[in-house]
Amino acid sequence: MSEMHCPSYYAATLNDKTAYPSLEGEITADVCVIGGGFTGVSTALDLTERGFNVVLLEQNHIGWGASGRNGGQVGYSIKGEDNIRNTHGAGADQMIKDLQWRGHEIIKKRIKKYNIDCDFKPGDMAAAIKHHHMDELKKEFNYVCEQGWGDNFKLVEKAQLRDYIGTDKYVGGLYNDMDFHIHPLNLCIGEARAAASLGARIFEGSGVVEIIHGKNPVVVTKSGRVKVNKVVIAGNAYHHLEKKKIGGVVFPAGTYILATEPLDSDLATEILPKNQSVWDMSIFLAYFRRSADNRFLYGGECNYSGRDPRSIKDTMLPHMIETFPMLKNVKIDYEWGGMIGITISRTPHVGRINDNVYYAQGYSGHGVNVTHIMGEMLSDAITGQLEHFDLFEKAKQHRIPVPRWVGNQMLALGMLYYRIKELL
Ligand SMILES: Cc1cc2nc3c(=O)[nH]c(=O)nc-3n(C[C@H](O)[C@H](O)[C@H](O)COP(=O)(O)OP(=O)(O)OC[C@H]3O[C@@H](n4cnc5c(N)ncnc54)[C@H](O)[C@@H]3O)c2cc1C
Repeated sequence: MSEMHCPSYYAATLNDKTAYPSLEGEITADVCVIGGGFTGVSTALDLTERGFNVVLLEQNHIGWGASGRNGGQVGYSIKGEDNIRNTHGAGADQMIKDLQWRGHEIIKKRIKKYNIDCDFKPGDMAAAIKHHHMDELKKEFNYVCEQGWGDNFKLVEKAQLRDYIGTDKYVGGLYNDMDFHIHPLNLCIGEARAAASLGARIFEGSGVVEIIHGKNPVVVTKSGRVKVNKVVIAGNAYHHLEKKKIGGVVFPAGTYILATEPLDSDLATEILPKNQSVWDMSIFLAYFRRSADNRFLYGGECNYSGRDPRSIKDTMLPHMIETFPMLKNVKIDYEWGGMIGITISRTPHVGRINDNVYYAQGYSGHGVNVTHIMGEMLSDAITGQLEHFDLFEKAKQHRIPVPRWVGNQMLALGMLYYRIKELL
């Protein structure tokens, strides 16, 4: 039985309700992609554009997982860059630089090419909560200037902060106008629609239960089978496939979002005068922005325990009101959460189980940009271009060879240490 989209602001404002059938019987294809989030949809679209015959299998609905629930903030980090540099040395610097904005380019190109209506708005800001965070942002500003992107970035000191965020909580920030924010579910569904229009066959309610390996692997669901040349596993924090071979590296962590009722325009402008998205550097990891209809979307938390809070609103609201007291009497219309895949190295977990089964997962909370890079990279790898793929596949990962829930408790304990340190 497949599950509906979670009751989020995004599901309530979905602009395409296309329902794809479930897979029945046996079919063949060049590539079978497992998972209908950004990783899977992006890979399927890229491969279809290159002329491959692609089948995409999603256990619930397109965008049901993290891709249809997230903050919609598209930031330029690919995560775990230091780990990649440690593995590959200085030779990796140019490739990292090339990749950092690649996801942005792919998303912007697709929005235009396929006419995807997903509330694109430019601008993002990192907000420092302590002075040592500001030192980190100054370092980051120097890095972006060295890379030649300085004209698009602005280091904002406390005195100017109210021009960007309507609170005194932060000590400064780093703003840029190259990052952007979008309605993630409408983007994901729009990309799936584009793939289908080019010939990709998409099946919903089609959870994969097994991959039978071989020269021509067979991907098995409860009511169907797909015989292919290549398989891509893109189930991220929500899949349990091939545990022996790729388990123990990616751990699911919960993060949650509140959406207020639409704010009147003065209040919306007071909170975020430039309508950019924001993420802060606290251990609570707040991220927030305005929606197209001027709701305030406030996200945060990174809960490794594997259990959702009893009330998302009760967990999140005190943080939101502490930062923006003027929202005290505003109604909360939606509350929801989802799972991100965390790796200990923070580098995405990418590789091959054998010559014809590929996987990409574990973007450590930063996947909207990176999933699109992965879509292109997986397609490149399938066509024999491994330069970028190698960068990630060879990067060191830490495996915790225990059941997932034990690993999650270990990570939760580790995070507790950092929370206490921050409080002190
Ligand atoms: C609340 C929240 C806020 C976030 N905010 C941001 C943000 O602002 N910016 C950002 O960059 N990132 C953010 N992220 C992270 C980002 O959403 C993810 O990194 C990204 O969407 C991962 O995409 P994915 O396709 O790999 O995984 P998912 O979107 O989780 O998709 C995996 C899909 O695979 C399917 N699946 C699993 N197993 C099977 C199977 N056996 N057979 C068939 N289908 C299967 C699932 O049903 C699911 O639809 C956030 C995540 C959450 C949860």
